[in-house]
Amino acid sequence: MKPAPFAYHRPSTVAEAAQLLAATQGKILAGGQSLIPIMSMRLASPAALVDLNHVPGLAAIDVTSTAVHIGALTRHAALEANDAAYLANPLLRRALRHVAHATIRNRGTTVGSIVHADPAAEMPAVLRLLGGIVEAVSSERGHRSIDSADFFVGPLESALQPDEVAVAATFPHPPGGSGSSWAEISRRHGDYGLVGVGSLVVLDEGRRITSASVCLISVGGTPVLVDVTDASSGTTYDAVDWTAALELVDAAIDPESDIHATAAYRRQLARVLTGRALAQATADAIARVAA
Ligand SMILES: Cc1cc2nc3c(=O)[nH]c(=O)nc-3n(C[C@H](O)[C@H](O)[C@H](O)COP(=O)(O)OP(=O)(O)OC[C@H]3O[C@@H](n4cnc5c(N)ncnc54)[C@H](O)[C@@H]3O)c2cc1C
Repeated sequence: MKPAPFAYHRPSTVAEAAQLLAATQGKILAGGQSLIPIMSMRLASPAALVDLNHVPGLAAIDVTSTAVHIGALTRHAALEANDAAYLANPLLRRALRHVAHATIRNRGTTVGSIVHADPAAEMPAVLRLLGGIVEAVSSERGHRSIDSADFFVGPLESALQPDEVAVAATFPHPPGGSGSSWAEISRRHGDYGLVGVGSLVVLDEGRRITSASVCLISVGGTPVLVDVTDASSGTTYDAVDWTAALELVDAAIDPESDIHATAAYRRQLARVLTGRALAQATADAIARVAA
């Protein structure tokens, strides 16, 4: 199928893009890897597209002492390949490798994925796990920062208002002594995950666990963040038993059945992958402390 007719605008500044978005009640076009298929299937028929791709300065990756900052046009592939971002925060590359295929990552943007808010997408969960921020601009109300805790509202629904352009996202660095991992099962390489789990484990100098958390995809309407610190804290890394953490995750998720997997299978995957992700993140923390 082909999309319904739409007007096409090519702004050259963020201010112009925000004005056009408000005036046309259209949609921002970033990488087009989700929007164009949806339009082609006539699941959405926006009257206008406001193409961000000709606005200069939006593709930067800035690694500071506290965070990785990316612009709205930073492609998944550029962030995945960025060694400074990987060194500061390995979870970014680890999760990005599960986002679709390389060709889609070449064009799709990480901020676009966050705004699209697919509950099966990896990078919204990474932003949520790390406590990141989305920067938004509207022509009426100016700039605001939206905490990831408030950003994901429901399936394909974020707190971004229809007249707002997301201009950047910030992924804070994980704390010292931490390790991270991403574990996921999909039916074929490049498919959306049946379940995916990001994990962050923090150890103190005595190699005791001081905090542990996981964020799961495809088991609810939004990324599901579960703090499992109470299930493990104070235990040394080699004596930890994650059974209580798995129970906390089981209570927090609400998976659905679809053509890809039953809810019961997703629940089982969530347990297996959570155990795996926590063990890998703990091993990563030990390796990083030793390095
Ligand atoms: C076959 C296939 C497999 C895929 N598999 C995966 C996967 O496994 N995991 C995964 O996470 N993703 C997957 N994707 C989606 C891919 O990651 C997309 O790149 C991403 O979802 C959207 O990014 P985009 O830049 O292409 O956004 P677009 O498609 O351009 O836009 C998506 C939506 O976000 C809005 N939007 C985008 N940017 C902004 C902005 N800056 N401000 C305001 N609104 C904005 C658009 O208006 C639109 O509503 C897959 C896509 C395909 C086609």
